[in-house]
Amino acid sequence: MHRVHNFSAGPAALPDEVLEIAKEEIMDYHGQGTSIMEQSHRGEAYTEVDQQAKERLDRILKLENRFHIMFLQGGASSQFMQVPFNFLDRHETADYINTGVWSNKAIKEARLFGNVHESYSGENEAFRRVPQDSELTFHDQSRYVHYTSNNTIYGTQFSGEPDTGGIPLICDASSDFISRPIDPKKYGMIYAGAQKNLGPSGVTVVMVRKDFLQSISKENIPTILDYRTHAERIFNTPPTFAVYMVNLVLKWVEERGGIPHFQTLNAKKAELLYSEIDRDAFYKGTAEKNSRSKMNVTFRLNDEGLEERFIKEAAKNELVALKGHRSAGGIRASIYNACRLESVEALVSFMDHFRSKYG
Ligand SMILES: *Cc1c(COP(=O)(O)O)cnc(C)c1O
Repeated sequence: MHRVHNFSAGPAALPDEVLEIAKEEIMDYHGQGTSIMEQSHRGEAYTEVDQQAKERLDRILKLENRFHIMFLQGGASSQFMQVPFNFLDRHETADYINTGVWSNKAIKEARLFGNVHESYSGENEAFRRVPQDSELTFHDQSRYVHYTSNNTIYGTQFSGEPDTGGIPLICDASSDFISRPIDPKKYGMIYAGAQKNLGPSGVTVVMVRKDFLQSISKENIPTILDYRTHAERIFNTPPTFAVYMVNLVLKWVEERGGIPHFQTLNAKKAELLYSEIDRDAFYKGTAEKNSRSKMNVTFRLNDEGLEERFIKEAAKNELVALKGHRSAGGIRASIYNACRLESVEALVSFMDHFRSKYG
């Protein structure tokens, strides 16, 4: 069995323990003589998977049954359109905090449905940081405030929920979902593509607070795109295998101690990596220090000409997928929940070695 240290930004590493269970169950799920993939999504086995996954999310995030949880398709990118399709009417305005590529894409879609007020834009600072609360401005009749809690490409992350003065938050949490605690009361809705921190690609978790769902007053929303269609029941065939995998990951998260465990572990991994980056001028972090992400650690080599060599030599040492996003360049180590401390230790030791060789 050969497993490398995988720092992929997404689809990202899954826990070995989860893959082992999936392997074990793939021919014969719980003695049924078929895999879970080969059964009706209305059957007993899949219904149980669906309910377990939802109950686990509710427990892990302490939602206290105040949210409808849905497993949808089309990626987080479809939510950029589906959110305003449901919640923003032509004469209404929503606030968007612009912290980079993903926020920008969300803004572009929202403008097709209503008015967008940009609460903040980090564009002229190349999205190297996220805003302080004091920099945010909101429209006085804002429908919601949309933000991206972790900016996968730039390695920036909000340290907590932005203060909206009570306007419901909608969060694209694709790349830091269940990595740390949230305050559910502040949210109207949270969504996350699974392939970063939660499972394989193919499913997006969408959680809409029950009273926020009731605030939808729009008509003419196509049935499949209307959140109300999915709130109480499974409407059409979901990506059953992806949801099954998400359920296994959630079980794994709970068995290890839930969010408190991962919050501590993720802080430790990030601290290790950033302190290696900050040790001297050989490496340079790209995000401003107080906006640094604990999920995607982005940095450059002072001599950018050495970056290709860094990535190649790292791969030879079984440290893979370290190339930065094509729009940002440099190096990016994605260290989501499933990335083990040993992997970060191995990377840090390689970085130290590489510095002595070329520094
Ligand atoms: C990856 C990512 C997306 C895009 O997800 P898709 O599932 O490919 O649509 C959106 N937002 C954030 C923050 C991401 O990291």
